[in-house]
Amino acid sequence: MARYRGSVCRLCRREGTKLFLKGDRCFSDKCSVDRRNYPPGQHGQGRPRFSDFGVQLREKQKVKRIYGMLEKQFADTATKASRMKGRTGDNLLQLLERRLDNVVFRLGFATSRNEARQLLRHGHFLVNGRKTTIPSFLTKPGMLITVREKSREVTRIAGALETLEGRSVPEWLEVDKDNFAGTVKALPTREDVTLPIEEQLIVEFYSR
Ligand code: SF4
Repeated sequence: MARYRGSVCRLCRREGTKLFLKGDRCFSDKCSVDRRNYPPGQHGQGRPRFSDFGVQLREKQKVKRIYGMLEKQFADTATKASRMKGRTGDNLLQLLERRLDNVVFRLGFATSRNEARQLLRHGHFLVNGRKTTIPSFLTKPGMLITVREKSREVTRIAGALETLEGRSVPEWLEVDKDNFAGTVKALPTREDVTLPIEEQLIVEFYSR
């Protein structure tokens, strides 16, 4: 399946909630969900009717879009979560949060996960001193993520760090803004994921 290249704000309106796909705009009064909180398209303002399957599908689509993943990748992550010990829903969220693109975003080096993914692919980050360009790379406690010396002047990275105050860094991560570095202190728990996600619906979707 090809990557979605249309307006990302339409995705938020489709899911009826903010997915935070557009950086600082999401925190401003220009957010499309705040201005037009109904699905896009000609019949967007009609009354939506969802079956149980429809509700599960929408939740899966929502989370997949939040983390900017393709269907295959997301389904593989759900399978991996189901094979781990513990609650599948918690495992799924933990695997999603541990992705390097998400960690770069949550540390404040980018204003959105999309931007983090692009910066990563361009080779601006090191993990434990080694250049890493794979957005799906799974981080572990103790790992050190740094911005490469010559990438510290990149406007998008410096700009993202300047506006970090508006976005909070979760407890399981620690950022050192002055040294353009961040550490993974622990594995993320369910409580660390503050997004409005009903992970049980996704587990049900994949156990049909
Ligand atoms: Fe979604 Fe951000 Fe667009 Fe608002 S501004 S609709 S949160 S992508």
